[in-house]
Amino acid sequence: MDSIDFNQEATDLYDELVRVRRDLHRHPELGFQETRTAGIVAETLTGLGLEVQSGVGQTGVVALLEGAHPGPTVLLRFDMDALPIQEESDHPYVSTKPGVMHACGHDGHVAMGLALARIFARQQARMTGSLKFLFQPAEEGLGGALAVMAGGALENPRPDVALAMHLWSPVHLGQARVVEGPAMASSSVFTITVEGHGGHGAAPHLATDPIIAAAQIVVALQSIVSRNTNPHDSVVLSVGEFSAGTTFNVIPERAVLKGTVRSYDKASHRMVYRRILEMATHTATAFGCRASMETVAIVAAVNNAPEPTAVVRAAAEHVLGAENILEHRTMASEDMGYVLEEIPGCYFFIGCSNGNPTTHFPHHHPRFDFDERAMINGVAIMAEAASRYVLS
Ligand SMILES: [Zn+2]
Ligand SMILES: [Zn+2]
Repeated sequence: MDSIDFNQEATDLYDELVRVRRDLHRHPELGFQETRTAGIVAETLTGLGLEVQSGVGQTGVVALLEGAHPGPTVLLRFDMDALPIQEESDHPYVSTKPGVMHACGHDGHVAMGLALARIFARQQARMTGSLKFLFQPAEEGLGGALAVMAGGALENPRPDVALAMHLWSPVHLGQARVVEGPAMASSSVFTITVEGHGGHGAAPHLATDPIIAAAQIVVALQSIVSRNTNPHDSVVLSVGEFSAGTTFNVIPERAVLKGTVRSYDKASHRMVYRRILEMATHTATAFGCRASMETVAIVAAVNNAPEPTAVVRAAAEHVLGAENILEHRTMASEDMGYVLEEIPGCYFFIGCSNGNPTTHFPHHHPRFDFDERAMINGVAIMAEAASRYVLS
């Protein structure tokens, strides 16, 4: 079979990619509220002749492009949600919705997913296998992956391979990150409540001050990563919220700490939580207080399987050149980790910053933006990788 120049195909769709991405950027929607976005996705995919199922995991869309010949099923997953951030840019496609913004690039992900459907819809008669497009809601810490999985997104048919990608501003346009094994960390949240005994700020001897105990706990927790984790394991423990008290001269009843733990390894995660609990309860006791802890798992680590990763790497090298494929990992996290616990696959990163400072803001920044030409690279690499499974 003649091989297809996916770089050319993606380049031909550039105007369409930009149009869709900017429209979504103007109309961002928070997790599980992506009704307009899902409507556009479903309408486009139906128009391309795909078998479309809406309302999967509330606002998700699943569409099957069944090839004319039997073969593997490849899941291509794209996230759709925006963030509760007030956009501060002044470009012409700025968000029209106060306090909501596509600050992570998921607008570009949806645009790329629709372009890929367009490219492969033309190849249906030659396809040996199927592509299952999953447009997932609520990736930003709201459990969208688990919702679509509970909604049956990984059944009928069950994918043999799962692929997903993220536009990534720490990586330069023209480069990509593809790494086998752990690529992104598992993430969880902990809340520690320290109970003391309130009183007058001028009579501390008659009270039991939970602020002092909680402050000591924050300091004590810093020793877990430095003293208890194996130096070869990557672990992060950050306290991001400390709330206590209402005014200057009152010792409050309680203090509350919230933080996050990130790791690649489940055993490390469990060990860190055992130590947090020990540190919190014993430190609180030492100061005459009581501590309790609640934890919520947010996402599993993203683990890339060897075979699909080799396929994606070869595809990325084909599109961008071997010298432009990097192997870094990140301690950020992604609920694609849950999908990859069930289906072998690969999650990779598409560089999207150029020399212009507007493309160098971190993800989730009020001025986040990306070089839209990165979408061409993302589409070409994903198409090249998928084609190695379904176009022989
Ligand atoms: Zn994000
Ligand atoms: Zn994201």
